Amino acid sequence: MTSAGSRGTGIRESGTERVGIYPFTQRPDEPMTGDPFEHAVRLARAALGAAPAGLVTDLDGTLSPIVDDPAAAQLVPGVPELLRELARALTVVAVVSGRSARDARSILGAAAGELLIVGNHGLEWLVPGSDAPEAPADTQRLRASLLAALAAVPPLDGVAIDDKGFSATIHYRGAPNPAAARGVLLAALAEPPPGIEVREGRRSVELRPVGSGDKGSAIAAIVERYALRGLLVAGDDVTDLDMFRAADILRGRGVATLTLAVAGGREVPRSVSDAADATVPSPESFVNLLRTVAASLDA
Ligand SMILES: [Mg+2]
Repeated sequence: MTSAGSRGTGIRESGTERVGIYPFTQRPDEPMTGDPFEHAVRLARAALGAAPAGLVTDLDGTLSPIVDDPAAAQLVPGVPELLRELARALTVVAVVSGRSARDARSILGAAAGELLIVGNHGLEWLVPGSDAPEAPADTQRLRASLLAALAAVPPLDGVAIDDKGFSATIHYRGAPNPAAARGVLLAALAEPPPGIEVREGRRSVELRPVGSGDKGSAIAAIVERYALRGLLVAGDDVTDLDMFRAADILRGRGVATLTLAVAGGREVPRSVSDAADATVPSPESFVNLLRTVAASLDA
């Protein structure tokens, strides 16, 4: 495992947050030489060239720019075709999202049938070619706990609740005063009902079942299920830190791994770029990197 403190410092400081200005990597075992983008491409090729290999990526903020209304999220142009190409070249391409599996699938469009879609932060698995998500066993109890938690959330101007069945995301990006809305929400949820935990995301608060896993346990399960020896992991948010930590552990067990933070402006948490091997400045840049790597996988 590499130390987090040595990473991520190619990002321009801007107040307490960072703005990505170029792809950057500071893996002690892979000192950067030459152009940062080319260097990130080399690391990605090494990870995805270790067959059987898989790409595991977040959706919002990673394959699509963050927008005010999550229902209006749009993939970077060309993503469905690119993911389909990668799904044919690699053992698995997995999209791991906080959205419900069905919601994520509808956004992924043409590529969706060939992808592993893991929704609800790991609670639901929609395997390639299947229409029915594999859901947790204890669905009734999980649903009752979530409804009890949502009952404690006061109605707030500009705050939208995305009820995903077993988990929920409360978005306060659209509130007149987002910081005040955040404070009210966290106070109302200071003592969530038994079985529910509260976590923060980018201008959002997540309600999830305790002990039902996270994106980190999802990635460990993906690597085991597909017996992967190579792994590229990408994400933009604090919930993706669980994936990066899990990838670090897998690296220690011999899986060739690259973790990529995808920046998208001032609100990207510094902890995310600090924890990743490399940072790319935007979803568009991440897609460019994938496109460059895909071309060499085909060759
Ligand atoms: Mg995201």
